Amino acid sequence: MTAPLLGMRDIDKRFQGVKALSSASLEVAAGEIMALVGQNGAGKSTLIKVLTGAYRRDGGSIAFGGEPIDFASPHEAQRGGISTIYQEINLVPFRSVAENIFLGREHRRYGLLDWRRMNHQAAELLRRFAVELDVRRPLMGFSTAIQQMVAIARAVSFKARLVIMDEPTSSLDEREVAVLFDVMRQLRAEGVAVIFITHRLDELYQVCDRVTVMRDGRTVMTSLMAEVDKLHLIAAMLGRDLETVRAHATGFSATSAKAGEEVLSAEGLRIGRKVRDARVEVRTGQIVGLAGLLGSGRTEVARAVFGADPPDAGTIRLTGKEVTPREPADAIALGVGYCSEDRKADGIVPDMSVRENLTLGILPRLTQMGVVDEARQRAIVDRFMARLAIKAASVEQKIRELSGGNQQKVLLARWLCTDPKLLILDEPTRGIDVGAKAEIQSLIRELADQGLGVLMISSELEEIVEGADRVFVLSDGRTVADLPHTAASAPAIMAAMAHEDPAATGTANG
Ligand code: ADP
Ligand code: MG
Repeated sequence: MTAPLLGMRDIDKRFQGVKALSSASLEVAAGEIMALVGQNGAGKSTLIKVLTGAYRRDGGSIAFGGEPIDFASPHEAQRGGISTIYQEINLVPFRSVAENIFLGREHRRYGLLDWRRMNHQAAELLRRFAVELDVRRPLMGFSTAIQQMVAIARAVSFKARLVIMDEPTSSLDEREVAVLFDVMRQLRAEGVAVIFITHRLDELYQVCDRVTVMRDGRTVMTSLMAEVDKLHLIAAMLGRDLETVRAHATGFSATSAKAGEEVLSAEGLRIGRKVRDARVEVRTGQIVGLAGLLGSGRTEVARAVFGADPPDAGTIRLTGKEVTPREPADAIALGVGYCSEDRKADGIVPDMSVRENLTLGILPRLTQMGVVDEARQRAIVDRFMARLAIKAASVEQKIRELSGGNQQKVLLARWLCTDPKLLILDEPTRGIDVGAKAEIQSLIRELADQGLGVLMISSELEEIVEGADRVFVLSDGRTVADLPHTAASAPAIMAAMAHEDPAATGTANG
């Protein structure tokens, strides 16, 4: 093989001492579509940002077109032939399509802007991608897909030799994705290299030549697309050896499986475009795991049950009653609690005290004529601080000063004091250090043993394998497996995740 167009070797990058990339590598040939995949936080975006000069690397080398490079900014990278299209389209909505394509490098004639020429060239450029439109109209009048195309046309018009697309398909519908893939093939035919970041594995097989898998800041696998099946890709992403499943120590002990009455039963859920046919059941005393890859629809299902995003179709039964929670207050009234995956954005109120954060959910109950019953509040706070062993200097300490593990315990306590029947935990131990993690896991088990029904979303297979009494696996918005604890091994869950969607594979080609 000739020298690759792009060669990134042994790239290191730290953020405040935390390693985001360690010795990561990536090689892409001219005229090749390279998939870059990995779980959330694997380092994909950081690797791209190091390449384009958005971040400085701490170590390693980058060669492009046979020359060592060291771009100081994405702007410089663009002039050097590397164009990036980010998930968020960074164009100017009220300017015309043509203006957006030529933004910052407008053609001039006798010192005046040469609109005729720019409009003509913009139209030509878009026609290459089978897009016909009036380029003089403002960008905001067009669909997201068209705006995406304009961003790509702009990227290509820089005479890019490498085009990087970071999750470009997340907001596109099926037909628009097909058009985007044609554009990618068109680029390939012209000798342009493409790096395609996506979490939809089905898409990779339709358009990519090779795939690079990242995990924990490292490149763990590179393969021809045709030589790797979905199951092996998933195993590489999750860091699990298919044959030898290592026993990871979690805080979960053997499950009791003393399942009681039904607390949740949801069936035939359809929610937007992400969830097409989901089913899940939870009984008292049970931890039910909801497994699936990023984008499989886990969080959407949880939010629907909680009334945050009501489903378009399907039935939800809470404690035996068929209900349609339209807003979280409805679900809370029925005994549902929900700890979101993003503690910082959706959970803690950073500048409030531990006491205030803990009692946020029961404040209406503690308040009479606008006055909080402080003695009762204090008693409740003290009880849950002790019960969950929350470590804080005092109940008046600001929650943002607590460790991640203790913040999570306060959020658990916030729901527990509402006396819920069902607690939904979305990635309950993400970003929590090892010791505190085990403590929270055994706490969840304890709560279930005391009769709580728990629905737990986790991207960590061992958390699901060891912690859950029953596991539902979601793939592409559908429940594809319902496994009892005894059958819920890591390979079984991964095999279910790799479930082929017949509708999606029908269009597969190279
Ligand atoms: P991916 O794109 O694969 O989801 P990222 O490259 O965004 O992963 O993140 C890799 C790791 O680096 C994560 O642990 C993330 O939290 C961390 N990280 C990324 N950007 C920053 C930043 N600007 N500051 C601190 N940490 C960061
Ligand atoms: Mg990213």
